[in-house]
Amino acid sequence: MERATVKIHGIVQGVGFRPFIHKLVREYRLSGYIKNTSSGVELELEGERPELERFVADVPLRAPKLALIERVETEFSPELRHFQGFEIQKSRTEELRNTLVSPDVGLCEDCRRELLDPADRRYRYPFINCTNCGPRFTIIKDLPYDRALTSMSGFPMCPDCDREYHDIENRRYHAQPDCCPVCGPRVFYLDAEGRELPGDAIGLAREALKQGKIVAVKGLGGMHLACRCDDPTIARTLRRRKQRDEKPFAIMCRNTACAEKLCVVSEGERAVLESFHKPIVLLRKREPGLEHLSENGFLGVMLPYTPLHVLLFGEDIDALVMTSANLSDTPIMFKNAEALEKLHGIADGFLLHDREIQTRCDDSLCWVLDGKEYFARRSRGYVPFPLQTGRPLRPILACGAEQKASFCLSRGESVFAVQHIGDLKNAETFAHYEAQIRHFERLFDIRPAALVCDKHPDYLSTAYAQERGAREKLPVIAVQHHHAHLAACLADNGLEGPAIGLVWDGTGYGDDGTTWGGECLIGDLRGYERFGSIRPIPLIGGDRATKELDRVAFALLREAGLDASAVPGAALYEKMLAAGLNCPLSSGMGRLFDGVAAILGIKTLASYEGQGAVLLEAAATETEASYPFALEGSPLRFDWRPTIRALAEDRDRGLPTGEIAGRFHNTLVAMAAETCRAAREKTKINDVALSGGTFQNMILMRALPAALEKEGFRVLRHRRVSPNDEGLSLGQLMIAEALLEEREHVSGGSAQAD
Ligand code: ZN
Ligand code: ZN
Ligand code: FE
Repeated sequence: MERATVKIHGIVQGVGFRPFIHKLVREYRLSGYIKNTSSGVELELEGERPELERFVADVPLRAPKLALIERVETEFSPELRHFQGFEIQKSRTEELRNTLVSPDVGLCEDCRRELLDPADRRYRYPFINCTNCGPRFTIIKDLPYDRALTSMSGFPMCPDCDREYHDIENRRYHAQPDCCPVCGPRVFYLDAEGRELPGDAIGLAREALKQGKIVAVKGLGGMHLACRCDDPTIARTLRRRKQRDEKPFAIMCRNTACAEKLCVVSEGERAVLESFHKPIVLLRKREPGLEHLSENGFLGVMLPYTPLHVLLFGEDIDALVMTSANLSDTPIMFKNAEALEKLHGIADGFLLHDREIQTRCDDSLCWVLDGKEYFARRSRGYVPFPLQTGRPLRPILACGAEQKASFCLSRGESVFAVQHIGDLKNAETFAHYEAQIRHFERLFDIRPAALVCDKHPDYLSTAYAQERGAREKLPVIAVQHHHAHLAACLADNGLEGPAIGLVWDGTGYGDDGTTWGGECLIGDLRGYERFGSIRPIPLIGGDRATKELDRVAFALLREAGLDASAVPGAALYEKMLAAGLNCPLSSGMGRLFDGVAAILGIKTLASYEGQGAVLLEAAATETEASYPFALEGSPLRFDWRPTIRALAEDRDRGLPTGEIAGRFHNTLVAMAAETCRAAREKTKINDVALSGGTFQNMILMRALPAALEKEGFRVLRHRRVSPNDEGLSLGQLMIAEALLEEREHVSGGSAQAD
């Protein structure tokens, strides 16, 4: 007999890990205890040495799929403590201090089988779940995670469920949302006027959908609007009613095979689609078309992730539009009454249920790169699992940006990042943002000791930080936008720099008061140097130029010394430009994309942010050719005028738009590589971090890392948070931590000198 001390680091709390260990210990007939620690769990076990070793080897192989084991340390000792049985030790404070909350988990295979098994007592029950799947984050009101503090509080367990809940051998052992048709929530269907219809709710909804109706469907984190996706007329009706002109719709497919009929699905994409996170994956369309769903080359696809979805699709519905139910940039609806009121006239029917959603949570959205998620939006299925940073952090609240708002909070070595929020300029969204900050602080028991925000004086997140900082007498640190992007990418890779940061996005407040966004920053968490940038573009009419892309096209052409009189509005723009009247300068890469999209006639009036860039990417065809450019000055400026001249010439001589768009992309790759070479020459730094919304361009994300790696650079890209502004708060937090640490160091030093 020997005693083993086993320390397991990683995400092993709040994921059914202790019940799992309990079962495994029984199987191996060991004795001892388990307890939570600040970085995971610790066990002491006694038994025969080979048994102990097999047990330890078995843990990672059989751990609950939600668990993320980072490291296992084992020590053996001959000194026995003679444990009696097995004990799950609980410290008094741990319940609140260290508990993690699991994200919502897509229906597991076991539950799916039971759902479709006529002999099972939960046959066709749309709320079936178990320890391995079901709602979590979205039904939790408060901690500890216990049925009484979830939406399930109003559904006392029946004797059958209660028996399962207490049976350690059962898959539903300690599954808080466990329920069945006898004791659990019910689903119902209402007509356009909100009258409940008698009969099989799911059957009624299926019938309505098949007939071409638009049905509101309550999911895990909010309402969707669903309709057939094979009929452009129906999709157009939905667009009209929802006032969503051109933004792509996501679809839900019955299974991967159905998705493959519309899109190309790689092995990696399949794995992410089918993973328990069930995000929307941006898949490449099999062939051009389906314009009524998405005007670009990708289609956002997800698989059914609740039992309700599975029953809704049945055996015969292959795919449905599943778009978030919200109106003009307000947050996704998540309450029954709200949906019935605000979707009146939009939905022809409502498939609702009486399990309340406590916290709204949009679907996650990602591409798949190297077999892993590359997030546009990290939300349902991932949040609120923490990002591990590998260094102890002060409790800090990082307030993010504005249009793609986010925040994150630190505790120990963990950073908790909020789900998708939206644009803070919308009052409801801002209220949601504030409410989520309160919710996260309470849920994870974090009292921030410092706040950090963007340097932009007009961001509502900046105002929030300053107001709260003044009220609670907390230090407020303002961080430059693109520096935060760089730091976010470093942190995302578990690094602290220094690195060469290519930070390309639409807009961010620069240290000189102008708008930046095509930056090469060399730096680390403590600071940066603006090594390179792009030649500023005058934005004729300021913000209007982000919608009316002709204004940017005109500016690019005129700056390049070309005739731009054919651009509609040329006379006015000429005057404004000549007088410098309301023409703020921007070095935003997004603006360059917008301008080129307009010059090529791809898009002149944007209906959503980034549309010009998205469509320019979609238009591009593969080519080897590229355009001339110049790099000069300090900061090293990308002079795009030669590029624009060559591009306009190609356009005028009738070269296909796709070829021109392809050459434009290649030009940026060449420019980026040359900039990085110059930066490496100067600093000997070999790491290149890619961040900013422009790196949601998959042509760049395939070509640029390849080009840089060929020259020996190590390329860092986002892995766990989005490259767009949603990922910014992580960078802000890490910069604030580094600065606070430095300050403490400095003041500590002077105190000693005194
Ligand atoms: Zn399950
Ligand atoms: Zn029951
Ligand atoms: Fe940005």
